[in-house]
Amino acid sequence: MKAARLYGQGDIRVEDIKIPEINEDEVLLKVKAAFICGTDVRFFKNGKPGIDADNPRVLGHEFAGIIDKVGSRVTRYTPGMRVAVAPNYGCGVCDICIGGNTQICVKALALGVGIDGGFAEYVKIPANAVRQGNITPISDNTGFEEAALAEPLSCVYNAYERIGINPGDKVLVIGAGPIGIMHAMIAVMAGASHVFINDLSRERLELAKNLVPSVITVAGKVKEELEKLTEGKLVDVVITAASVSAIQEMAFSLVGLNGRIMFFGGLPKGKSLVYLDTNEIHYKQLTISGTTMQNLRQYRDCLRLIEEGVLKVKDLVTSSSPLNEISGVIANVAAGKGLKSVITI
Ligand SMILES: [Zn+2]
Ligand SMILES: [Zn+2]
Repeated sequence: MKAARLYGQGDIRVEDIKIPEINEDEVLLKVKAAFICGTDVRFFKNGKPGIDADNPRVLGHEFAGIIDKVGSRVTRYTPGMRVAVAPNYGCGVCDICIGGNTQICVKALALGVGIDGGFAEYVKIPANAVRQGNITPISDNTGFEEAALAEPLSCVYNAYERIGINPGDKVLVIGAGPIGIMHAMIAVMAGASHVFINDLSRERLELAKNLVPSVITVAGKVKEELEKLTEGKLVDVVITAASVSAIQEMAFSLVGLNGRIMFFGGLPKGKSLVYLDTNEIHYKQLTISGTTMQNLRQYRDCLRLIEEGVLKVKDLVTSSSPLNEISGVIANVAAGKGLKSVITI
């Protein structure tokens, strides 16, 4: 089969490798659509410990496809099923897993990160992931591309649940990339009265406005603009959807009394220390939180929101390419071109 494997920093190769063999508890998936994520770009740019010339890895953790084969002990799944696959799975027995958060289990693994993922014609879904329910069937009229977007969408949904956007809230999203736009979509869905979105790129703000017409784009001096637009009250919720420490620091000056701040997405290694005035938290009664990945319930909720047409994430897809063009596509994503780029197989 054809697979795109990362061999280290800046070295991704599309090559012919053996189709993975499955045991009696595993599932073989024929991949139809796999998206490139900021995480893939980071691994490509910086490399990743554990991935080298002797241990290449198939990246890709946002994917959907058709079940090709199932092991003899697999129930519930059959060949021919159209499915989306959540990438993160845990040991299945620790307290965290039993609590439903298999994605943050200390033994958690992710397809396309710790083991081979979706930038290939076939991917093996390991027994633990099969057993935990990482595979979700999709309806015949749900496209593979939109189904694959349940992964990034549910990361955003996790943040939304944690920070609790209420009807009538004023929300500011900083960063108008695909993730920022998903935050805006969810805030609108939750009934926010105003969803502001800020970015340095006018082009991205325009894209955001096209996709979510009710958003209010804020370019230039954010604080002054926001003060004008909110009669000095600022916003109830600030979500940072850009990996920049200065933006996290800035969030404190943009949130109003009793406000909430969501630090979405990590900062680059070695750059995660931020300066913060804890009196701002104290006197403004702020709640600050972060989230990572998603649990399987959130993944399935998002799949349903996509299938029912509540969240039109398909609009985020700005490019579609075959597997052998993957390095060029990764370079485009790294350069901030377009929103979501899909590899179709
Ligand atoms: Zn991702
Ligand atoms: Zn566990």
